Amino acid sequence: MKNDDNPSPTQSKMGIGGLIRKLLPFVLPYRWLLIITLTLTFVGSLMAQVNAIVLDRTVDKINELLHIEGGFSWATAARVLLIVSVILLGKELLSALITFGQRLFGEKIRINVSRDLSLKVVDRILSFRMAFFSADGNETGKLQSKIDRGTMSLSNTVKNFFIDIIPLFTSAILALCLMFAANVYVGLVALCIVPLYFVITAWQARKLKGWRHKVFGTHQALNNGIMNIIESIAVIKSFNREELEAQRQADLQMQSTEQQMETRKTSFLFEGGKTFVEQIGTVLIIILTAYLVLTDYPGMTIGKIMYHVLLFSNVSAPIRQLHRIYDDLNDALIYAESFFGILDADNEVEQSGQHCPDKVEGLFELKNVEFTYGNGTHAIRDMSMTIHPNQTTALVGLSGAGKSTVVNLLDKFYTPDSGTITLDGVPLQQWDTQVLRDNIGLVLQKNHIFSGTIEENIRYGKPQASFEEVVHAAQQAYIYDQIMELPDKFQSNALQLSGGQQQRIAIARMFLKNPPIIFLDEPTASLDAIATEQIKASIDAIKKNRTVIVISHNIGQIIDSDYLYVLQTGHVEQSGIPDDVYRSGGLYKEILDASARSMNADKIAHTMEN
Ligand code: ADP
Repeated sequence: MKNDDNPSPTQSKMGIGGLIRKLLPFVLPYRWLLIITLTLTFVGSLMAQVNAIVLDRTVDKINELLHIEGGFSWATAARVLLIVSVILLGKELLSALITFGQRLFGEKIRINVSRDLSLKVVDRILSFRMAFFSADGNETGKLQSKIDRGTMSLSNTVKNFFIDIIPLFTSAILALCLMFAANVYVGLVALCIVPLYFVITAWQARKLKGWRHKVFGTHQALNNGIMNIIESIAVIKSFNREELEAQRQADLQMQSTEQQMETRKTSFLFEGGKTFVEQIGTVLIIILTAYLVLTDYPGMTIGKIMYHVLLFSNVSAPIRQLHRIYDDLNDALIYAESFFGILDADNEVEQSGQHCPDKVEGLFELKNVEFTYGNGTHAIRDMSMTIHPNQTTALVGLSGAGKSTVVNLLDKFYTPDSGTITLDGVPLQQWDTQVLRDNIGLVLQKNHIFSGTIEENIRYGKPQASFEEVVHAAQQAYIYDQIMELPDKFQSNALQLSGGQQQRIAIARMFLKNPPIIFLDEPTASLDAIATEQIKASIDAIKKNRTVIVISHNIGQIIDSDYLYVLQTGHVEQSGIPDDVYRSGGLYKEILDASARSMNADKIAHTMEN
């Protein structure tokens, strides 16, 4: 399966420096948290070396006791052990507190940064023009996946940085310094092992990168597959294709099993290799220190064997994590690019003019308008039309003729390539976008009911409206009686209403908003005849004294209009008063006759007469 929304690792052009630069403005507001976290980290790293130092001294002390002439006293031995125990336990307690604080603050930074990233992206998205959402790669699913993965991997990077990378590497560097301070040769051995680790890790990361993306792709395909099965269950059953679907899932599962096993195998092999290299380092350090002790090298006591081995494990521990950190960082680089692409898309922000009159008449004039969508569809060609106030204008035409595009242009969702569109004589670009849209009401075919109560959905038209106003709007839209029959009345879930009821909720919202201009884009498509008739009553009520544009395939709504424009492939083919246009023949007559035939109008009339 193709995974368009899964950016491949080769797509990343952003380097680590670029990533840090981009993230910095989000982290800086928490600089005090950052300073506390880093201080705790540093103290924690110092504490991590205490075990090695204490064990070094303990072994030497016990060795000393063993070699006291005439034997050692148990009281002295007990005192040594008591001091060691107190130091080790005390250190552990302090370490636990420091780690707790460091993780808590690190996590607080991560959560805050993640929240700020999400808020920022939502802010940006709300400010973008519509063209952004129909651009390639910005479809709902892909955009959501870009944002989800971007926020997650970026906040993970922040967490990795403060909770994993910095503490681990501070501890490693401190341990290495202590090794050098104890003995240069021992320090050099430890230092030589480190690059070997890096080489193996880089090799491992390279090997696993391809597999990780394959595993991810198959996982998504499996999820999508299950979703498709659930969504299309009726079709699958009616065609008896259960076996075929089961086989498809089985193939994907087999593929997933193989890929997961292959990834695990590679991981285990490399982990084994790394442990072996670490062990080689430990062995070399034991041999070297033992040799130095045996040859009476100044300052080398038997305790140093333990000391060096423990310090070396502090050096190698973080490097063992390198692979995971490398993977996370790689992901962050990939996802950061598309995420910051959204934040930085300044050219996508909607432009607004200044014009905000006290009263809007509602006279639209289009002159020689041309418009092409981002994907190259030339949707409007040399279009000129006038939409008069206090009239209902119907846009008629076959699917794809450009009717909805005209509405999109009038609502300033898109800007024409050339030509002019004016409202009350002022070009749309000069209108304050918010004022313009405050004066326009839009009823679409569907997708306009939010999850929430009926009251909330109607109130969306005017958030400060009183409950009485909401009720009045519901009455005007002829939906009040039906709402009152529901168990929870206005508090019922709006998404559970039927299509026709939802449509009238949208119309009630329009009554509440009370705009002078109304666009109805196929408001009764996909509704049954009874619902359509009920909605017709609400639409007739809302039409009064407004500029109304109605797009509909419903003959009743078209012939009720005062004026109509017949569109074909993006330009005006015919226009005029419905009856006149019909009489002049052409496309409108064809459409109307075909509609009447498809409805079997003659037979209906005959049935009704009898
Ligand atoms: P109608 O409303 O008459 O059915 P539309 O205005 O929806 O027609 O579409 C006109 C043309 O523009 C069609 O070819 C359609 O495929 C295309 N189109 C519509 N919306 C978009 C969009 N968001 N992005 C790209 N092309 C679009």
